[in-house]
Amino acid sequence: MKVVFLGTGTSVGIPMIGCDCRVCASSDPRNRRRRSSIYVAAGGTHLVIDTSLDFRDQALTFKVPRVDAVLMTHSHADHIFGLDDIRRFNTIQGQAIPVHGSGETIRDLKRIFSYINATPSPPGVYRPEIEFLETRGPWTVGAIRIEPLPVEHSTCETLGFRLEADGRTVGYVPDCHALPEAAFARLRGVDVMILDGLRHRPHPTHLTVEASVALLQRMGARHSYLTHLCHDLDHEETQESLPPAIFVSCDGMTLEW
Ligand SMILES: [Zn+2]
Ligand SMILES: [Zn+2]
Ligand SMILES: [Zn+2]
Repeated sequence: MKVVFLGTGTSVGIPMIGCDCRVCASSDPRNRRRRSSIYVAAGGTHLVIDTSLDFRDQALTFKVPRVDAVLMTHSHADHIFGLDDIRRFNTIQGQAIPVHGSGETIRDLKRIFSYINATPSPPGVYRPEIEFLETRGPWTVGAIRIEPLPVEHSTCETLGFRLEADGRTVGYVPDCHALPEAAFARLRGVDVMILDGLRHRPHPTHLTVEASVALLQRMGARHSYLTHLCHDLDHEETQESLPPAIFVSCDGMTLEW
């Protein structure tokens, strides 16, 4: 299984517009964070989780070759507003692309992207062809088994995902302030766990680094990564403060096992 971090930043991206703090002004490329998203490939199947505001740049920079399905965690703007750029994959693959999300997420996507549907565009028009699909429990796309896991984040219905392919497992929960017991139980012991770790100061809709680390230690993944990071966190300094086997993610970081 291969996972590429396409983006590891909070909703505004890092650097933030108009901020000259030490992280936003940093020359360390690991402190440049696009909006949160990952690309997953296993057994010839290619997925992206969320189509962030930076999706085009991410697909070009980190070379996403194909998208067999998009999994949406929730309908906040930082996670969905790159959806229009899926149309290049319609052209490359010659097919509509399935987009999976909770009922609320799919309703929001159909409202926000009301011009998008699963039928080919008329001549001279170039719209994405998307098949919107509500998640109703685990399902499979090619070689990857996907399990949607409801988590708590804002007032917005939000999912994390547990992916499994050929016995290898990864959990991805970029936006949450609390993990329900059911989600925790399914994520316990995955090979790789990627979890929201916004900043040190408490936030009403995101986990702090400290709360995230405590959860990750209880989950016991072989390797754990913090994502959806804000400009309070310098990469190097934050990494040095973390316990063994817990890492700060950065854009372009690739995991393969
Ligand atoms: Zn977010
Ligand atoms: Zn800043
Ligand atoms: Zn969010």
